[in-house]
Amino acid sequence: MPETHVIAGAGLAGAKAAEALRAEGFEGRIVLVGDEAEAPYERPPLSKDYLRGESPREQARVHEDGFYADHDIELLTGTTVTDLNAAARDVTLSTGERLGYDRLLLATGSEPRRLSVPGAELDGVHHLRTFADSDAIAAALQPGARAVIAGGGWIGMEVAASARQKGLDVTIVELEDVPLSRALGREAGLIYARLHREHGVQLHTGVAVARVEGEGRVERVVLADGRALDADLLVCGLGAIPRTVLAERAGLAVENGVVCDASLQTSDPHVFAAGDIANAEHPFYGRRVRVEHWANALNQPEVAAKAMLGKPATYDKLPYFFSDQYDAGMEYRGLAIGADAFEIDGDAEAYEFVAYWRREGRTIAAMNVNVWDVGDQLEEEILSRAI
Ligand code: FAD
Ligand code: NAP
Repeated sequence: MPETHVIAGAGLAGAKAAEALRAEGFEGRIVLVGDEAEAPYERPPLSKDYLRGESPREQARVHEDGFYADHDIELLTGTTVTDLNAAARDVTLSTGERLGYDRLLLATGSEPRRLSVPGAELDGVHHLRTFADSDAIAAALQPGARAVIAGGGWIGMEVAASARQKGLDVTIVELEDVPLSRALGREAGLIYARLHREHGVQLHTGVAVARVEGEGRVERVVLADGRALDADLLVCGLGAIPRTVLAERAGLAVENGVVCDASLQTSDPHVFAAGDIANAEHPFYGRRVRVEHWANALNQPEVAAKAMLGKPATYDKLPYFFSDQYDAGMEYRGLAIGADAFEIDGDAEAYEFVAYWRREGRTIAAMNVNVWDVGDQLEEEILSRAI
């Protein structure tokens, strides 16, 4: 009887895992179950070129048309995995079907933290995770319209840049004093704040959105300090929450995501996890790391697939992500936890520099902005644990 491997979640991690299982020689049944109506796609363009209407939908697809059929991968779109019974080794689908598995990969990703203030349900209030969300925001990106962005994180800053590029008036409202400060720290966050101000974005920091007002649709966004901002749309980028409900219900270890060892195996030896939800032991850091970025969802599946097939496998890549805002392209490597120094090499005024986070004189993270072909060198520097 051929084995069946089921993948819950058909985003980047799920789709790459299906590909990797075949590439690793698995000849049994692969069922890739996704609750979206779409074939798997990548999300980075949704706040950037796709949102601005500069790249077609097809460009965001993880695989070309026909890939799943050609590789005998059963892709079930519009289908939710509603339950996981780890003891019986089966999942229940929204169609009512119960599907037994030999190995299961959880790749259910994250969902947006929703704005929860009065008026958050009004038309014109958006969150951004899916093609449909991006399409709805794109339709509202009309020149001269007034966009308020709640949250100066990655979504907030990238959507703000896209909205300015489309000719909107843009205001960002961020709880912290400096946008992106949680991800990048104060100094680097200030550089991005300046970039946006130079492009005409209004930044209101250290203040929360208190309520949204309007007749049926958003007209004003009222802040906790009483200021009222006229708005035609409000885009919320308030962080993401890993979708761990299946793992929780099945009694797997869950703590800031699904707990995994370095081979991406969960606390159940037949269940694995990859992408945004995996809080995996990282050999370089000697602790668990959960990364909510594209490269992690791209690269972890190969390791998970090997481990699902009983082959030795360890995920030890350094955390990596990128962002594009206006003409500033950046890459970031490493983890800046515990940094005691921050240095810039290059021209921060011109947005052409490499930033280094150091701990006890050693580079622990680095960000190159509009400086290219330095990635390998920066990675080596971090991995060598030397200066
Ligand atoms: P997801 O992409 O969330 O995919 C999970 C899939 O599983 C979803 O389709 C979900 O609907 C489905 N699912 C969930 N539960 C179930 C269930 N029970 N049954 C069936 N299906 C289910 N990262 C970068 O490094 N650089 C960027 O520039 C960048 N830009 C981004 C822009 C946007 C707008 C967003 C939202 C994210 C961006 N990211 C970026 C982050 C990156 O896209 C994510 O880290 C990545 O999508 C994670 O992939 P994943 O497969 O783990 O999860
Ligand atoms: P994020 O980067 O975690 O940023 C969330 C921002 O919202 C933070 O600045 C946070 O401030 C703020 N915030 C939280 N609650 C708030 C509130 N009630 N009112 C106002 N601000 C509030 O998350 P995101 O931008 O929403 O992105 C969602 C996911 O997509 C993340 O996983 C992210 O990594 C991913 N993404 C990545 C990229 C990229 O890598 N280039 C691009 C887009 C999206 P505090 O710091 O004070 O909490």
